[in-house]
Amino acid sequence: MSSPTPDIKSVELICILAFNSNNQVAVRKLGSKAGLAFTGTDLEMAISRLESAYTSHTQAKEKFNLEVAGRNYRIYFVQSEGKSKDSEIEFWTLETLENNPEMLAPSLAAILAGLEPYLVEIPYLHLGENDFIYKFRPEKERNAQVYAPDAEAGALYQSKLCSAIKTLARRHERTADAPVDLDFGKVHYIIPSHFGFCLGVKNAIERAYETLAENPKKRVFMLSELIHNPFVNADLLKRGLRYLQSDKGIPYTVDETPTSSRLLWDTLTPDDIVIIPAFGATDEDKLRLVKKGVAVFNHDATCMLVEKVWKAARVYGREGYTVVIHGKHEHEETKATFSNTKRYAPAVIVRNLEETKLLSAIITSKDPAIRQSFYALFEGKHTPNFDVNRDLERVAVVNQTTLLVNETREIIALLREKYATYFGADKAGDKPRVGGSGRTDTLCYATQVNQDALTKALEENVDAAFVIGGRNSSNTYQLYRLCAEKLKDKAFFIQSESNIQSIESVEHFIFPANQADITANRFIKKLLWPEGIGSTPRKILITGGASCPDGIIQQVIHRINSFIEPHSLKTIDQVLLDLETSQKS
Ligand code: SF4
Repeated sequence: MSSPTPDIKSVELICILAFNSNNQVAVRKLGSKAGLAFTGTDLEMAISRLESAYTSHTQAKEKFNLEVAGRNYRIYFVQSEGKSKDSEIEFWTLETLENNPEMLAPSLAAILAGLEPYLVEIPYLHLGENDFIYKFRPEKERNAQVYAPDAEAGALYQSKLCSAIKTLARRHERTADAPVDLDFGKVHYIIPSHFGFCLGVKNAIERAYETLAENPKKRVFMLSELIHNPFVNADLLKRGLRYLQSDKGIPYTVDETPTSSRLLWDTLTPDDIVIIPAFGATDEDKLRLVKKGVAVFNHDATCMLVEKVWKAARVYGREGYTVVIHGKHEHEETKATFSNTKRYAPAVIVRNLEETKLLSAIITSKDPAIRQSFYALFEGKHTPNFDVNRDLERVAVVNQTTLLVNETREIIALLREKYATYFGADKAGDKPRVGGSGRTDTLCYATQVNQDALTKALEENVDAAFVIGGRNSSNTYQLYRLCAEKLKDKAFFIQSESNIQSIESVEHFIFPANQADITANRFIKKLLWPEGIGSTPRKILITGGASCPDGIIQQVIHRINSFIEPHSLKTIDQVLLDLETSQKS
């Protein structure tokens, strides 16, 4: 008796989708049609077909199942490179396939339609879950020359004074030391041991300049501003870099005027380079790049400390927590963190302690109207389908890396107190209501150390403080806040030396800390010393945010010195010599 023939529809098929580093997928071209490239009744068969086309590939990872015409397909992803040994196999962008549905075999069409939730993983298939997209280059591997290719860039990025301070006063990269007193005679500049560029920013800038230098024939874009510093961004633009969208996510048109309807985004091809800045990118933006066949991973400069926040949020999500993101919902980094987190957990963004109090009042209320107010109060700041009755049972806090460290701690403490009051103290062995048990390890040490070093410097009896940074730089504003608490009107937020008009008056930037503040987002004139510099030496504190190049700090010093009689000032070389001697003694 012959055995019954299996029903073809009951046979499971394994399908391997192979992607190259441009996120293009391998398809089998048969005439004008495109179909699945690598299938088999088991994984071994599918892999042997894959290897008949591409010798090297990453380990196959199963992603999803799909039924097509009654047959179950198990879909695996791999990354493979090079030219196929099989002439029927070609890499195509997902966008091209999507735009030509008539050429797709039904099984390929159905599988492509189910790809959307997994697209964002494609550029990183070769990485393990705990790997970072890239790691900071240690100092000895730095390529500092590449971002100061000429005198103009040199003046922006390099400073004799700042290099000396870092060499002499920074004993540890992650711990604040005593500030440095640059004694020019008539004026002393008190410089915190840590200021300016963090490692994430240094890496991102270096990679941007390297990419421009190595690809003179290609179009090089940045998703949005590399960092929040207009001088750095202007210098990069001068060297040929272009931005795809503003820091608010508004896409730029081809001719950068509102008259053209064609967006730069629409012109992207796999030959173009798009750099992802240190803030990271939203899943939505990455997904568009993946579809267009742009090599996302190769030019992803997401700071590893931002990625650390994403990883913490993923862990919290898997542990069943709703993630509270302490951040500004309009900031690129918070948008990217929110977008990344929503893959793993419900999430809500709180701007500050005040908003956390509003959230706490909702968490601790049984009144349905108050609970319902969540949706209006946090509109645009919570994940879709957020259920206020289900998703506020347990929360864990992560933060935008550049905010005030102490505020994040206060937010965690407040939530702990409110949960304990409402639900009772956590029982031993139970999962805590507020996750992370005091962990503040999603805070960026660079932000923290700049704040700590400034706090130490403020202990000196200074007469005024200048905090330098881009007008949309959140971490610069946090530094300014610390100065303003102590020095009130004698604290200034400036972008560069050009804001110091004289020793009498300075253009001070009003940071939009409060969105309702109509006076914000502009410079106002504030008095420095209308009576002149005076006869007693003045002590001026100067620091820069994480996106402030060293050159600007030195130019601010030059500028202030230019208002003082030269004969009453020491030269920079003399100041450096004194500094070296004092640090050695
Ligand atoms: S401030 Fe911190 S998180 Fe942000 S880029 Fe710098 S090192 Fe990275």
